[in-house]
Amino acid sequence: MKKLFLTLAILALALAAFTACNSGNDNGDGDNNYDNGGAAAEPRRTLVMGTSAGFPPFEFIADYGQGVIGQYAGIDISLVYRIAQELDVDIVIQDQEFAGLITALQSRQIDFIAAGMTIRPDRAEFVNFSVPYYTAGQRVIVQAGNTDINSIADLEGLIVGVQMGTTADMAITDGHNDGVVTFQDIARFNQPAHGILDLLSGSLDAFVVDAPVARNFLAAYPDELRIFYDPNEFFGPEQFGMAFHLEDLDLLAEFNAVLTRLIAEGYVEYLYAHYAALLGGEE
Ligand code: GLN
Repeated sequence: MKKLFLTLAILALALAAFTACNSGNDNGDGDNNYDNGGAAAEPRRTLVMGTSAGFPPFEFIADYGQGVIGQYAGIDISLVYRIAQELDVDIVIQDQEFAGLITALQSRQIDFIAAGMTIRPDRAEFVNFSVPYYTAGQRVIVQAGNTDINSIADLEGLIVGVQMGTTADMAITDGHNDGVVTFQDIARFNQPAHGILDLLSGSLDAFVVDAPVARNFLAAYPDELRIFYDPNEFFGPEQFGMAFHLEDLDLLAEFNAVLTRLIAEGYVEYLYAHYAALLGGEE
């Protein structure tokens, strides 16, 4: 009896090997019925995410070994990592200047933007935004010892810093051009951290940046810096969205479906709390 089983088992194995071999010989000329892999054999999609990784807690270069995608970490990075898992895609990060992100997307050097980017009608002429996933707004950072500056109007005749091409840049530039406040100079930086260094050294009087990022720098320099909110006509609430090429409606829909669910599940809130605890900066 045992022998019979063994013989049958060997026969079954031989048959399986023959089938596999035959199927493997399928040269795709269509004259047999074997399906040689189909969809499973397709390579995974790789999407290039454009960001500007000097924007903690949304994107920054992590300590050695702490990166979530490559060497990068932050709310946007963790969020995209999770979306990519659910969509079964690989993500490659292109880290560049914030001001060039929309152009890079339009020319398809990147597939989408996740960079704490504020949804604005003027930007939406060039890109499609995802559902909003975070509400921010502008904050003014000054030296802690400076008690004279408590509003944007107090910056009349002084030097204010912003990150180039951001909503802070737009608000400050509009205020200046409209004559609401005449600054001595508007210093535009590619990285918020460079503006913070100039503020600490005294060559800037104030730096304007999104609230979560301002809180993050305050946590890094609690004795040296102070932040305040000026509810003026140029600073409204802002909502962050990821951005997609105008033609990539399917990709936008795929991201929106997952993003909507993750927001409803409280995942973005969780990430904010996680990174605030990690980096400091909770209000
Ligand atoms: N939220 C701001 C904007 O969209 C700043 C974004 C950033 O610097 N990464 O302009």
